[in-house]
Amino acid sequence: MPHIITPEAEEILDKEFRVLDKGFIILRDYMGGDQRIVDAARVSYQAGTKKTSTDRGLIRYLLRNKHTTPLEKIRFEFHIKLPILVMRQWIRHRMSSTNEESARYSIMKEEFYFPEQWRLQSGTNKQGSSSNVSENCNSLYIEDLNRHCEETYKLYEKMISEGVSREMARMVLPVNIYTQFYWTIDLWNLMHFLRLRMDSHAQLEIREYAKVVEMCARAVCPIAMEAWTDYIYEAKNFSRMEVGAIRSLLQDTKSLNLTGITLWETLSSDSGMETRTEKGEYSREFKEFLDKLGITNYENPEKSH
Ligand SMILES: Cc1cc2nc3c(=O)[nH]c(=O)nc-3n(C[C@H](O)[C@H](O)[C@H](O)COP(=O)(O)OP(=O)(O)OC[C@H]3O[C@@H](n4cnc5c(N)ncnc54)[C@H](O)[C@@H]3O)c2cc1C
Repeated sequence: MPHIITPEAEEILDKEFRVLDKGFIILRDYMGGDQRIVDAARVSYQAGTKKTSTDRGLIRYLLRNKHTTPLEKIRFEFHIKLPILVMRQWIRHRMSSTNEESARYSIMKEEFYFPEQWRLQSGTNKQGSSSNVSENCNSLYIEDLNRHCEETYKLYEKMISEGVSREMARMVLPVNIYTQFYWTIDLWNLMHFLRLRMDSHAQLEIREYAKVVEMCARAVCPIAMEAWTDYIYEAKNFSRMEVGAIRSLLQDTKSLNLTGITLWETLSSDSGMETRTEKGEYSREFKEFLDKLGITNYENPEKSH
């Protein structure tokens, strides 16, 4: 089986995408693409078996139903430069492999993250920020942080020059100093990372990095990433209670004499769902949705001849 080469991914391979003031993300390598997902999913059928769905349809089916092992066949290798405060959040994603610059081995460079804009503590989210601090305070905090980093780095240099071990001298450095690492991750775990770190609850700084990771993943496997957006990232799960509420609403709709399926088909296709197959029958996806809504008593439209 040949290597899968995706022209869009080749285009960005080894290119440096700047993040924050001094950080970057470089896609160093990738293995597989949309076609590899399809091959892995179809391996059980073997050659000669009738192709029952289009490649795109199959990938979308896998994502929709969380059949995720074929997604683990795609792998990414990134080189990332980021402040330690972001690295601490990143490293929590255990289902990946990392190699980080060693501050015991090397002398840390004088490279600190200086935010252009300081944010106020959120009153509703104990972990988050809300609006910006005033312009006046912003300028003062920028100056304060600059001075603080300069002083701490001088102390670090002094300790190193006096023979203090690098593993101890680093204790004086703040968490906005930059570090670098290599990150290897498969597509399914990358999607999980993106869902958590592109969320509005994640810290703005890591969200900036996640956007670039997402762009790289879209270049490697655009169909799978499109399906991830549709079925995971921008999708909502209904709880038992929410399903109950929607079903009640549907009952009300019925009592108002609106025809249920026509209504839902119009609403669904307006939202971008492919509700019919080429033959004019209801699509599997639309039938799954009707099932979620508890609509079972309907006739599939006639196949067009
Ligand atoms: C907005 C936000 C706020 C956060 N706040 C905090 C916080 O205040 N404090 C804090 O400590 N962390 C916090 N975290 C980190 C969070 O708890 C997770 O550690 C992090 O998001 C990684 O997620 P994960 O464990 O699902 O990912 P991974 O470690 O990559 O794991 C992926 C999946 O593999 C499975 N898995 C991996 N390891 C195991 C295991 N040992 N056992 C069983 N299943 C496993 C799980 O299904 C898991 O979801 C926060 C994360 C976010 C996004």
